[in-house]
Amino acid sequence: MSIAAERIERLHALARRAARAGDDDRAREYVRLAHRLAERNRLQFPCEFRRFTCDACDAYLIPGRNARVRTRDGHVVVTCDCGHQSRYPYE
Ligand SMILES: [Zn+2]
Repeated sequence: MSIAAERIERLHALARRAARAGDDDRAREYVRLAHRLAERNRLQFPCEFRRFTCDACDAYLIPGRNARVRTRDGHVVVTCDCGHQSRYPYE
């Protein structure tokens, strides 16, 4: 794993911890940093991380807290508090 990929994983852990502690602004900062790192290094954003971030507002999503998760037509639909919806194939 490259250093950049490791840093992204680390930022994921930090974002999750901050979001769970209720510090949404800090979580968002970590998500943004991770996005920037991935872009700069042309890395694919890890899908487990992507799934828990909002594409519109960069929030780190915690289902039941700042996001709603529904399954529909074989997809998982995640709705952020900002109203943005993301859809993923159901696994
Ligand atoms: Zn959002």
